[in-house]
Amino acid sequence: MRKLNTRWMHPRDQITMIIDKIYRSGLTTTSGGNISIIDENGDVWVTPSAIDKGTLRPTDIVCVKSDGSIEGRHKPSSEYPFHIAIYKSRPDIKAVIHAHPPALVSFSIVREIPNTNVIPQAKHVCGPIGYAPYELPGSEELGTVIAREFDKGFNSVIMENHGTVVGGHDLSDAYQRFETMEFCARTLINGSTIGTPNYLTDEQINEFESQIPRLLPEMDEVEHPSDERAIREQIQRIVLRACDQGLMISSYGTVSVRWRGNDFLITPPNVARWDIQLKDIVQIKDGKREPGKVPSRSTWLHQEIYKRNPHVNSIILTQSPYLMAYSVTGEKMDVRTIPESWIFLQDIPNMPFGSHFAGQEAILNTLSENTPAVIINNDSVLVTGDKLLGTFDRLEVAEFSAKSLTMGASLGKLVPINDQQVEALRKKFLS
Ligand SMILES: [Zn+2]
Repeated sequence: MRKLNTRWMHPRDQITMIIDKIYRSGLTTTSGGNISIIDENGDVWVTPSAIDKGTLRPTDIVCVKSDGSIEGRHKPSSEYPFHIAIYKSRPDIKAVIHAHPPALVSFSIVREIPNTNVIPQAKHVCGPIGYAPYELPGSEELGTVIAREFDKGFNSVIMENHGTVVGGHDLSDAYQRFETMEFCARTLINGSTIGTPNYLTDEQINEFESQIPRLLPEMDEVEHPSDERAIREQIQRIVLRACDQGLMISSYGTVSVRWRGNDFLITPPNVARWDIQLKDIVQIKDGKREPGKVPSRSTWLHQEIYKRNPHVNSIILTQSPYLMAYSVTGEKMDVRTIPESWIFLQDIPNMPFGSHFAGQEAILNTLSENTPAVIINNDSVLVTGDKLLGTFDRLEVAEFSAKSLTMGASLGKLVPINDQQVEALRKKFLS
């Protein structure tokens, strides 16, 4: 299974892995965007100029040596001078990603910075965002204006009428920042299509950051029988699939599956979701956690859902781009407009931000067999179900429906079926 190991993998292998991921996620074109890593010798490994990003191989990566000489089969990216300028001004930055992802380009052409207070982890992941005025692509001046922003301490910068550039202490860190910032921008755009985005206060964000699981006690010893390992595999497979399908980003998302009784397995925080490994997943047994591991912030909620809902055997909590439009605006997603989705989802209520924190009852009092999913404002969507694949399908149906509703909103009035028609559906499919 893939694993981006920034400590042991050669820079050219790391770069190839991440550019491939960015290309497949639709965040760069065949010719656009470039990535670099500076190594311990001060040599900069960078993507080549004018080589297909869809089929890049490690041998295509170019090395710009610290003395300025160039090694490799190709010319380095024409934008490499600003990568070098960033490394010169910020020795703590070891990896740089530049691309033209569509939502951030939208912000760059209306000359605005996306407000990351729209979802809880984004402010922390992206940090404050700088703004570099327009300069000719590939010019020394462009390098100067970008380096100036990094010099001020920004790790994420909007490039006016161009795109974005982010830095990180390694490539995994830079990628997560890049993806989270684009996700924020996309959420704000989708939210603005159906309503007006609301923002979290800094206090609310701090509250989120500080509610790291009032840690459950550790169990003395842990066993991993084969049925437990099978659940690890299931969780890993679904997390990777959710990331591949654009239903989860690296910096947020929790999946759990009931094991025996009220015991379950759950994903940890602070692991890049697209790269999750079997050993990262945490076992919760008799209210205790696997020794030495930290489970998701939302572990308490998962535990309570399993205790109170014997029919629920799996839970997905995630941020997907169109459901988040409803989450950040607080607009009601009217599933009755798409009857076949309603059969899967029924009505999806909005819950206030913070209702998923430990000790809060609102979500627990709302979830039932008739309400398998809720949207948590400015946070996420929570979907429950029996088998994990079924729960994932329910999430997909919800996201597709949210996408249709969002796109429909720009066409005209969305028309739901009437109460009588809903009753007929209920009778035929749900009773
Ligand atoms: Zn560019």
